[in-house]
Amino acid sequence: MYHEKNIDEILNDLNTSLQGISSLEASKRIAKYGKNTIVQKKQDSILKIVISELKDPILLLLLLTIMASIFINEYFDALVIFFIVLIDIIMGTYQENKAKKTMNSISKLVNQESKVIRDNQVKIINSNLLTIGDLILIESGDKIPADLRIIDSQNLLVNESVLTGESIGVEKDNNIVMLNNGEIVGQTNMLFSGTSVLRGRAKAIVVRVGMNTELGKIAQTVTETIEERTPLKIRIDKFSKQISILVLLIAIILMILLIFKGLSFNDIFLSVIALSVSAMPEGLPLALTMALTIASNKMAEKNVIVKRLESAESLGSCTIIASDKTGTLTINEQTAKVIILPNGNKYNIAGSGYNEDGEVFGNNIEDAQEIGLLGVINNEAVLTDNKKIGDSIDLAFLVLGKKLKVNMHNIKIIERVPYESENKYSAVFYELDNQVFCTIKGSLEVVRKFCDKINKIDDNINSDCLNKQNQTLAKEGYRVIAIANGKIKKQKSYNLDKIKDLTFMGLVGFIDPVRSDVISSIKSCREAGIKVLMITGDHPLTAFKIANDLQVTNDYNEVTTGDEVEVISNLNKKRFDKFIKTKKIFARVTPIQKLKIVESLKRQGEFVAVTGDGVNDAPALKAANIGIAMGSGTDIAKETADMIIIDDSFTSIKEGIKEGRIAYANIRKIILFLISCGLAEVLFFTLSIIFNLPVPLIAIQLLWINIVTDGIQDFALSFEKGEKDVMIEGPRKASDPLFDYSLIKSIVVSGLSIGIIIFIVWYYLINFTNLDVFVARGYIMTLMVFIQNIHVFNCRSEKNSAFKVPLKSNYLIVIGVIFSIILQIFIIEVPFMAKFLKTSSISYPNLLLLFLIALSILLIIETYKLIERRKNNENSKKYKEKIRNQR
Ligand code: ADP
Ligand code: MG
Repeated sequence: MYHEKNIDEILNDLNTSLQGISSLEASKRIAKYGKNTIVQKKQDSILKIVISELKDPILLLLLLTIMASIFINEYFDALVIFFIVLIDIIMGTYQENKAKKTMNSISKLVNQESKVIRDNQVKIINSNLLTIGDLILIESGDKIPADLRIIDSQNLLVNESVLTGESIGVEKDNNIVMLNNGEIVGQTNMLFSGTSVLRGRAKAIVVRVGMNTELGKIAQTVTETIEERTPLKIRIDKFSKQISILVLLIAIILMILLIFKGLSFNDIFLSVIALSVSAMPEGLPLALTMALTIASNKMAEKNVIVKRLESAESLGSCTIIASDKTGTLTINEQTAKVIILPNGNKYNIAGSGYNEDGEVFGNNIEDAQEIGLLGVINNEAVLTDNKKIGDSIDLAFLVLGKKLKVNMHNIKIIERVPYESENKYSAVFYELDNQVFCTIKGSLEVVRKFCDKINKIDDNINSDCLNKQNQTLAKEGYRVIAIANGKIKKQKSYNLDKIKDLTFMGLVGFIDPVRSDVISSIKSCREAGIKVLMITGDHPLTAFKIANDLQVTNDYNEVTTGDEVEVISNLNKKRFDKFIKTKKIFARVTPIQKLKIVESLKRQGEFVAVTGDGVNDAPALKAANIGIAMGSGTDIAKETADMIIIDDSFTSIKEGIKEGRIAYANIRKIILFLISCGLAEVLFFTLSIIFNLPVPLIAIQLLWINIVTDGIQDFALSFEKGEKDVMIEGPRKASDPLFDYSLIKSIVVSGLSIGIIIFIVWYYLINFTNLDVFVARGYIMTLMVFIQNIHVFNCRSEKNSAFKVPLKSNYLIVIGVIFSIILQIFIIEVPFMAKFLKTSSISYPNLLLLFLIALSILLIIETYKLIERRKNNENSKKYKEKIRNQR
């Protein structure tokens, strides 16, 4: 076993070396051992989707209809209904399958990457392409990509709970352990695939990949994952079930009424069942899935990857975004712009980004070089012409080193204490001319604690002069890094515990430009009633300056620090919540304080989106209503988050919110359409019975209507692009019911209108014309198809005029509607087809007349919307003012 062998033996066994393997060798090995992937559950087969479609209770009803038809010797009817059912299943399966495929391809966009040493160079590759014998570099926040044997490590702490269930971190190093029980616990020189690194760095060698890893073995035994039903889906499922039961109840009552009237059971039974099938919103759950899938897809195009379908919608109800500063609001490309020495000497540095051109201006350039050299020594980044790997501050120090022409000759690194964001420093022990030194870089507050003197000036390390220099830089928006250095005694092993006597060397100010598009994104969030907060590890003055540039705030009273948060959080919850409410900028915040802030905001009823990238951001990401990980962030953050922003940018979050709102609006549009049409049908039937008219439509006709008016239209509505005002309305409350007062009102108004229009026409046809009932049914069927297809356009906007929603923004609807109408005319006009539906042709003038009657629904709903808009205008003006003042 690998844990029992020493490193030389392992290198020998795996035919590799401390320089790693070559790319050529790697591809040979991948061919031999396979890719480093855990084979997951196969995608649902089409057959399985079909079977799940069959479980639908509506289908049972239809089967019942078919059986009843056969029973009363209507074989032909049975056959037609069977075909209609078949079309239904095919359409459903197609949509469901498409939705699943889309989600799968979206989830594939999230790749895990590894830092590997191949051809003697550090390279970043997709973890799938790791192979046995590869030498890789591991750091805090990584998810271990394969089973590894540690070659060398610093401070390594790993969470192995995926494999062992134990959530307390395990310390790891490269010492040989003798264990013969083969258990994972105790193999402290091994790193296992799927576990996560909480702290430290390591160099390790890949010993097992893919299904041969410990994780792979477990994956083999777990055959199927249970599909999770999201809360929204549960709500919709429940809702559509309730409506269905309601429809069924009404149908039964109608049936009893009809029987009492003395109609034969045979005549009414099928119609009533068909009515309930037609009026039930059976397409709703699927349409919902479609709307969310489309939203997820659009989000993916805008660099937002949702991990669960429902997040696509919940992002839309976000009321607060608590954003990181570095990388999200800024571009995270640091440039050292100024060096200040304790004696006041100042150096300005030209150039920007990771471009190495740029002169350094100032007196006694050697002093600046000394600072630059320390920044290069104490550094984990790799910078070559075509490669930039590592932390942005470290990269910036390498660039500064090149500008100052420093060299690392004669310097030997002995030990590193890597940068972890909660420590706010990094340190290195190094040897020069046979003497050992320690250098530290980090925030002034932390670094000065390791010092007892200041370079070249005679002042107390605790005096205010350094603070003043620090503040002047921070005020101008510089991220300030302090540097210390000092000789220490030679020892067997080195750590920072007892170090207090270093010399304070100076401050370096870095500029990280703000993302230019973020200013307008923040503005549009404010208009949408979403408050933007900044949570950062940086200095309060730096954070304030950036916040000012971004127009988040210009009031220093809205800035606070982690320390203050800590103190007040210990007082009492009410006071703490009040305090948090008044702040927008949280500086020098630790991950635990970040969690407290998120919890407080949630207590206040906010729906919070939080960004994070580090290892320790996981609790805050989990606690948030929506956890958002940065694409450049750690694997741990990405795993915990609900969504990932590939390009790290705040603008993408805003775009995601917009798509989420559109998805929610579309779901409402679909509900409005389906339920109002169902209501109209039920109403029409009821009125016909009350007024002693014949049964308006027979089973086949109803089912036909269901096909030409429900399938394509609700599907098409889920593609709506969103209206102009999606981002100038306030966020809805996450707890608001989908079915709110205004939606119910719209449903009732349109359902009643359609039902009554059709009824009047039916009444007229029966009482004032001498058309045969069968022919009259053809008229009514056609009218219903027309009117529902026109009603789709009403449903494209709940508030705005249908004419304000451009047709070209959803061709699918236009095509779908035209197709349905043509299909209907075709069916009616082709005698052989009309026979199927038990009716006969309608003259063209009459068809036109029916179409004109159908158009009246557009007029009615337009008028209704106009009245509603007038009413709401006043309210919304007031609301907008209130939002602007608050956010
Ligand atoms: P942010 O929340 O803006 O991403 P960080 O947590 O990354 O802030 O950084 C917080 C502080 O840690 C910085 O203000 C700086 O003082 C220090 N720091 C950042 N990067 C490094 C580094 N590579 N080496 C040493 N110190 C660093
Ligand atoms: Mg950072």
